[in-house]
Amino acid sequence: MRLAALPRFPLAQLPTPLEEATRLSHALGGVRILVKRDDLTGLALGGNKTRKLEYLIGDALAQGASLVLTEGPAQSNHCRQTAAAAARAGLRCVLVLNSPDPAPPLQGNLLLDHLFGAEVHLVRHRDERHAELEHLANLFAARGDRPYVIPTGGSTPVGAAAYVRAALELAAQLVERGVMATRVYLATSTSGGTHAGMVLGASLLGQPFEVIGVAVEDEAEAIRQRVAALAEATAELLGLERRFPPEAIIVDDRWVGPGYGVPSEETLEAIVLAARTEGLVLDPVYTGKAMAALIGQIRRGEIASGETVVFLHTGGAPALFAQAERLAAVVASQRPVVEP
Ligand SMILES: *Cc1c(COP(=O)(O)O)cnc(C)c1O
Repeated sequence: MRLAALPRFPLAQLPTPLEEATRLSHALGGVRILVKRDDLTGLALGGNKTRKLEYLIGDALAQGASLVLTEGPAQSNHCRQTAAAAARAGLRCVLVLNSPDPAPPLQGNLLLDHLFGAEVHLVRHRDERHAELEHLANLFAARGDRPYVIPTGGSTPVGAAAYVRAALELAAQLVERGVMATRVYLATSTSGGTHAGMVLGASLLGQPFEVIGVAVEDEAEAIRQRVAALAEATAELLGLERRFPPEAIIVDDRWVGPGYGVPSEETLEAIVLAARTEGLVLDPVYTGKAMAALIGQIRRGEIASGETVVFLHTGGAPALFAQAERLAAVVASQRPVVEP
């Protein structure tokens, strides 16, 4: 496999910790839960994009790029981590963000984008983003700059390769502890790089665990196709031949709730439970939904009580502050009443 040969710009604190979530397990009736802390990758409040950016920025530098451009919603964790990674690498960073609000509040990830010195271009709709990105890339190229374009979520084969490495890292940690985990839960979307990398990694390891992608947007079929194709393209980048039929990609789409970025009651309950049992900070867009799925599957008896599962914490905490009002209402209503 050609993983070690890919250019890599070190950004992450690896390996990330693998922690026992004893009190959460107990609260849910005993299924053993380990948390793989990719929220602690170390750069700019952490998250899964930092692993991908090690390879993406490595590739950009190898190509002699002078600036990186990428796109996402206004509260994109990927854009925030890209802005910080670019700062570390001494590259300019240009972000195209979509927001229905022409002047979105400078909070959460968007505040941090500006803090890291990124140049932010706003568009109204998600479908306008890519054309604007291409337009800017061409403009910079015409001025003699060398732009490197990173697609949404950094989910190219180069980015996804980082999660092949993460799968190997996790498997080694499990072996070291003598633990057999049957499933790994992670938040997934039509970006799909984390899911694809983990699926390919698990396949290379001889399938020690199932990889369960919890959909955070209502696109299960599109996610299966995207993850399968990206896993195959990543295998090819690594000099391997692997086939992944979309039907073999596991997507649980029962926890999307009202839509992308909008937490359901179950999402908010999962955020509060993880916080109050383990001191974990989950987010309303991704990890809160992934945890809602894990909790829901345990409560529905879909996971046997003797099983050990891994929850991949992909980060996202800054988005929590951008949705402070929604969460504040829940936290206040669940505050224990002190008896006089
Ligand atoms: C981007 C992101 C994901 C999804 O990762 P992809 O590889 O883009 O599918 C999951 N969780 C968080 C917190 C993210 O920021």
